[in-house]
Amino acid sequence: MIPFNVPPMTGKEQHYIEQVIKNKKLSGDGRFTQACQAWIEEKYFCQKALLTTSCTHALEMAAMLAGIGPGDEVIMPSYTFVSTANAFVLQGATIVFVDIRPDTMNIDETLIEDAITDKTKAIVPVHYAGVACEMDTINAIADQYGITVIEDAAQGMMSVYKGQALGTLGRLGCYSFHETKNYSSGEGGALLINHEGDQYRSEIIREKGTNRSQFFRGQVDKYSWVDVGSSFLPSELNAAYLYAQLEHAGGINEDRLMSWQTYFNELKPLADEDRIQLPHVPDHCQHNAHMFYIKAKDLNERTALIDYLKDNEIMTAFHYVPLHSSMAGQTFGRFHGEDCYTTRESERLLRLPLYYHLEEKDVYYIIKTIKDFYKP
Ligand SMILES: *Cc1c(COP(=O)(O)O)cnc(C)c1O
Repeated sequence: MIPFNVPPMTGKEQHYIEQVIKNKKLSGDGRFTQACQAWIEEKYFCQKALLTTSCTHALEMAAMLAGIGPGDEVIMPSYTFVSTANAFVLQGATIVFVDIRPDTMNIDETLIEDAITDKTKAIVPVHYAGVACEMDTINAIADQYGITVIEDAAQGMMSVYKGQALGTLGRLGCYSFHETKNYSSGEGGALLINHEGDQYRSEIIREKGTNRSQFFRGQVDKYSWVDVGSSFLPSELNAAYLYAQLEHAGGINEDRLMSWQTYFNELKPLADEDRIQLPHVPDHCQHNAHMFYIKAKDLNERTALIDYLKDNEIMTAFHYVPLHSSMAGQTFGRFHGEDCYTTRESERLLRLPLYYHLEEKDVYYIIKTIKDFYKP
């Protein structure tokens, strides 16, 4: 069986975790957490990065930092993971879903302005498959209306938009280190703080509403409860695992891009014959090969293809059930405008196996099996 995903491992993880155990410092914000945060800050020219327990929690912190409250509206695509919406619903917001572009599966930037009301507080672009949303347009609209931009860059680490790293383009950016993502700590994430005004409060929210971070740096002589907050910092064990992968991020990225490019080149003839569709990466975007997907004709053909691949020992995956058609989505949100592509495209999309160290012969076997399925 070729699995759909294998969590990334570089070989150094165990060694770093042993160091944590030997140092007898297992709670958060130790050496490895600091090292991961410094790595992100230096590599992506980011003002401040904080490791979190998940991207879900990074999004929750972002919603708190942006001051989202009851009655506020937050604009995002419906084609995304539940956490994108939940983080804002937890603060009492109403979600306003807009349609996606069929080429990138990202929010259609031309539909955002029409969805803005006097209650709109934030726009949350989701960089699907690590391919950037049209951030210049989105930031210009946000500036014009005085709205906050929070990037769900869960899938976007190591991707670039016009020379700038995803996650550093909005006021706040959120990464995921879940085991299904390119770089992993099992469960984990990071919040990127791109405005100086958010730096102080972000540390406090992450440390249970206390100024313990300042206390550790010797800036105050005791710490106490100063604001709302929760426990959003990961253990050093998770940070140690992650650090091994950040050190090797370039290699992981190249390895994934190679598999991605093989899929793309070899499946191109099928796409040229209009049998399937392939992902589109705009010229000004560098992606991180988070995902390789193809689009079948419709739901029926996709179901048949999944079964065929499974019979041939290939595991695939699809997502998302559009949030506006889910039970919670109907309670907490509304779709603005027409659903031209969200539902239709989500039913056609199929994700192929893609992970660090996916063997080239497996990629070719998967390609051949897909071609067999589409043989006239
Ligand atoms: C994976 C993912 C998340 C959630 O990440 P966790 O680290 O599992 O909380 C949020 N948004 C998107 C778009 C994702 O792909």
